[in-house]
Amino acid sequence: EGVVYGEVRRPCRLMLLVNPHSGRGQALCLFTSHIQHMLTEAGVTHTLIVTERQNHARELVREADLSQWDALVIISGDGLLFEVVNGLMERDDWEEAIQTPLGILPGGSGNALAASIHHYTGSPPGSSEDLLVSCGFLLCKGLVSRLDLVSVSLASGLRLFSFLSLAWGFVADVDIESEKYRYVGAARFTVGTLVRLASLRVYRGRLAYLPAEEPPPRCGASPQGHAPGFCSSLFCQKKASADQGAAHTFRNSCNSNNATKASRSEAPPAASGGPADSLLVPLEQPVPSHWTVVKEEDFVLVLAMYQSHLAEDLLAAPGASLEDGVMHLFYVKAGISRAALLRLFLAMEKGVHLAAGCPDLVYVKVLALRLEPLTPKGVITVDGEVVEYGPVQAQVHSGLARLIAG
Ligand code: ADP
Ligand code: MG
Repeated sequence: EGVVYGEVRRPCRLMLLVNPHSGRGQALCLFTSHIQHMLTEAGVTHTLIVTERQNHARELVREADLSQWDALVIISGDGLLFEVVNGLMERDDWEEAIQTPLGILPGGSGNALAASIHHYTGSPPGSSEDLLVSCGFLLCKGLVSRLDLVSVSLASGLRLFSFLSLAWGFVADVDIESEKYRYVGAARFTVGTLVRLASLRVYRGRLAYLPAEEPPPRCGASPQGHAPGFCSSLFCQKKASADQGAAHTFRNSCNSNNATKASRSEAPPAASGGPADSLLVPLEQPVPSHWTVVKEEDFVLVLAMYQSHLAEDLLAAPGASLEDGVMHLFYVKAGISRAALLRLFLAMEKGVHLAAGCPDLVYVKVLALRLEPLTPKGVITVDGEVVEYGPVQAQVHSGLARLIAG
């Protein structure tokens, strides 16, 4: 669990962003029926903003006077929070802006971060409405934790910030193909998984990573793909969260220094905003020699997770927490049978897939990774959103953001 970092100021003012098209299109209705009275009783004042189109929230947050808000909260799926995080990181004052406490109320069909927060409190999994009410209470409590972000660099030079996942292959395909089943809510991933299993594919590509710790002597499923010349003594770079610099002070919202806002230029957001990726070399160069290069080039899926849940009922990374400073990297090698893959996904509902001893599943904690797809066409998703297909690399920035969690 994340260390509680502070509390949202009382009485507090929330910017509450709603995506009216998320999930079954009921986010606004869920808000009025389950959350509004809770906030009123807790003395949480809020301004409700219904987004009009994709990237509306991103633009609003990029331009907002953040001194007016104690927290930015979304009622939607993970996609709307992805907009908010990237809107903040695109600002000239990103370093301060990204410390604005964020909150999430599950109103979408992909509510993985909300499910993760609920899971970290130790509560048993509940229905979608239980999850919403649980997150509503956490929001009223207002305890702020740090949240890891991962910077994701694409071949075009674009850099995105991610709080949940990077996926390629089976999981990314299900994520996108299942959007047409949004009307069934969170069950869209189950439907999508069954459809994709029926036409299981192999994805070709190269995967390399920087392990977070020296790999222990393993029995069973081990990442046997170490490059020639692998030298374990090179792996002792512990959590590179030092990258983050000195501890940030929690911005307790009382600092309304409007003066600094006046000098902001109208120039488009600098693509170079955000912290430096000290662990990465340019995509055109080979990965550093102390990285692990996976021997296999045929995969069924590659998935990096930084929170516990991949979807409301998929506990993909049981060991993950808000600020553990690592990515939980999973890959499944080609050759796995449909039945074995189905068993893995079923086991994932309880988070016991790692104990299943599946020889085709590899799990390793990493600080950075690179994926170079060789299959000419395909889908890569970041936090469930499609990004440009091609080589991609990523690195963790431990505790870069703030999240209202239990
Ligand atoms: P879901 O969990 O149902 O997928 P998301 O929050 O992930 O819900 O939102 C789905 C997509 O809708 C995201 O790509 C998001 O950027 C986009 N979006 C946000 N607001 C709007 C809007 N007003 N109209 C259409 N799309 C929107
Ligand atoms: Mg989504």
